[in-house]
Amino acid sequence: MATGWGSLLQDEQQLEELARQAVDRALAEGVLLRTAREPSSSNVVSYAPFTLFPSLVPSALLEQAYAVQMDFNLLVDAVSQDAAFLEQTLSSTIKRDDYTARLFDIHKQVLKEGVAQTVFLGLNRSDYMFQHNTDGSPALKQIEINTISASFGGLASRTPAVHRALVLLIAQEKERNIFDQRAIENELLAKNIHVIRRRFEDVSEKGSLDQDRRLLMDGQEVAVVYFRDGYMPNQYSQQNWEARLLLERSCAVKCPDIATQLAGTKKVQQELSRVGVLEMLLPGQPEAVARLRATFAGLYSLDMGAEGDQAIAEALAAPSRFVLKPQREGGGNNLYGEEMVQALQQLKDSEERASYILMEKIEPEPFGNCLLRPGSPAQVVQCISELGIFGVYVRQGKTLVMNKHVGHLLRTKAIEHADGGVAAGVAVLDNPYPV
Ligand code: ADP
Ligand code: MG
Repeated sequence: MATGWGSLLQDEQQLEELARQAVDRALAEGVLLRTAREPSSSNVVSYAPFTLFPSLVPSALLEQAYAVQMDFNLLVDAVSQDAAFLEQTLSSTIKRDDYTARLFDIHKQVLKEGVAQTVFLGLNRSDYMFQHNTDGSPALKQIEINTISASFGGLASRTPAVHRALVLLIAQEKERNIFDQRAIENELLAKNIHVIRRRFEDVSEKGSLDQDRRLLMDGQEVAVVYFRDGYMPNQYSQQNWEARLLLERSCAVKCPDIATQLAGTKKVQQELSRVGVLEMLLPGQPEAVARLRATFAGLYSLDMGAEGDQAIAEALAAPSRFVLKPQREGGGNNLYGEEMVQALQQLKDSEERASYILMEKIEPEPFGNCLLRPGSPAQVVQCISELGIFGVYVRQGKTLVMNKHVGHLLRTKAIEHADGGVAAGVAVLDNPYPV
């Protein structure tokens, strides 16, 4: 039995509640059987029996079973084509077993007539159990292979829904970008992963941790928390800060967890560009370090001291070459040109300047395109683009179990806007046309 659910299995009340929810889910997903009393009618149906929790299976054995399946398909197919082998192998059986004998008679008869079809369709299911070797390691041992009416493929594909993770999407009540979020919700739903949208306020009112720090929302355990809120200071009331703390203290997987959010600050970006820092963080990966560094623009600390003083002096001397950035996300926070000069002059002698970083202003080559917006006439303007690449990874403990790029975003805006993205009404969605 699954061991990861240890303490849950001991809490009778919670178990009952979970079982109730799981049964409803199974019924809603169509994990059904006709009843034994009425096997020819669907007037009354019930759920097909299932486990409340998924059971642990060594992943190496699962992979081994998958890997050997095509070999078993080939083997079954080879046997079926070898009439002499079949006859010889089954000769003693058919003498004693009527049923096999009758099957074999049909086989002989169609062979004699000549087989009418050249296409053969196999749907097999090879069954295994896991047995421990003498050294304690688990081994995959075949129970049998089913070559006819291999069943439960239909219902089994629906049962993951019963065992899936519940995702808690932390969202704002007023959200213009709802359809971007819905696309993700729908994608998860299509994979039978349920999503509940809640505000930080809901979490503080209805969320709780049990003694094992499992996160419960409205009585359901949450496996993953996905933040689409909480990236700006004005999104946090005292209540919301407490809700964020609760989520971070829980054993739910957070996307992102608080440390990962902090890793995305502009101050971290600036420190990463310092000599030796990439090498310290990614030891033994000089190629990755080189690929990363090649993309870095000039980044300057404004911490108190000579280095910060010099950066400020350079920015004041050539304001058009720099951008001043606070530790904020969401667009519209950066300072350019005359505004930057004024801010720098004001901040120059105060510790507050350390909350900003200075960055080299990137100057893309403008090109002509037509930006379409509701209520604006279509006209060609000079534009620049910003390319975003999405990346996703999963780390379990110290092991990176997944790391891949998952698509891109191209946003284009008219050159007169220094700052601001699509949500701010400045940039528009675009697509790269590779040349
Ligand atoms: P935010 O977290 O608010 O999105 P960004 O650093 O992405 O902050 O800056 C917002 C926008 O400002 C960017 O989309 C880009 O248009 C412009 N911008 C930021 N940094 C630079 C830079 N160094 N050079 C030119 N434009 C920049
Ligand atoms: Mg940005």
